Amino acid sequence: MNIVYLNGVFLPDTEARISVFDRGFLFGDSVYEVIPFYQGRGFRLEQHLQRLQHSLRAVRIHCELDWADILQALVTQNGGGNLSVYLQVSRGDTGERSHAFDEIMAPTVFAFCQPIRDIYQAGPDLVEPVRAIVTADMRGHRCDIKSTCLQPNIMVLQQARAQGAAEALQLRNGLLTEGTSSNLYIVRQNVICTPRLGSDILGGVTRQLVLELADREGIQYQEIDLDYEQLLAADEVWISSSTRAVVPVIEVDGERIGTGQPGPLWRRMYQLFIEFHHALMTGQSKDV
Ligand code: PLP
Repeated sequence: MNIVYLNGVFLPDTEARISVFDRGFLFGDSVYEVIPFYQGRGFRLEQHLQRLQHSLRAVRIHCELDWADILQALVTQNGGGNLSVYLQVSRGDTGERSHAFDEIMAPTVFAFCQPIRDIYQAGPDLVEPVRAIVTADMRGHRCDIKSTCLQPNIMVLQQARAQGAAEALQLRNGLLTEGTSSNLYIVRQNVICTPRLGSDILGGVTRQLVLELADREGIQYQEIDLDYEQLLAADEVWISSSTRAVVPVIEVDGERIGTGQPGPLWRRMYQLFIEFHHALMTGQSKDV
């Protein structure tokens, strides 16, 4: 049994109840975050909470809470350790189904934890490279909002899985955007290239860290438009997300990428993540 957080109360998951008229359930009218905690400490927590504020503001859900305190208490109540915290804020419940909403509503705030592996302890040799397919991006026009309206993402992910792939890289107006739950990078001639921020992609917290680490280490990067041909011709392809860090993609649409093995720049970036994580956990860095 897990302890979850629901509207100000910590309680067993089996006892948590949400109204059938909650707009998160009826309309997907809600936003969310997934935040890893290692040894009970949030990893890039502040950046996740900043993005939560961005999503809440964008959809005009008014909710100000001591997020860090709530999530830390939830993690502690679930025994600390290595956990990913899912946090969802929906616009709330009006006791009826109506598209229109009142500006002032009591949002539904729900959070729970799931155990995760400490990927940084495992090291790069234990990272499973993945295969991907490329599909049309069928999502709406505000992909910068971390909304729970994920049906287009799950449909194309399912298509990828049916083809023996682990991720679908999405293409919109001839340009690559991102994966269904990850940001995308290609490496060519030792330069990391990734689609620029905007309403076509989610501003990934891991993406931000990749670019910060590249900057710090003098690794060149570009935020630019990328198309299908550039993807297939890349030396390396990576995806990134909070619970997986950076993962090498070794095959796209059945075509081998580079040597067909995780590339040297990926290995270097993964090692930088491990060192960054280690510095956090041992208190050598204040960033959490
Ligand atoms: N892009 C999409 C569509 C996502 O859903 C996610 C994470 O779930 C990401 C990118 C990666 O974001 P982050 O690094 O903040 O986990």
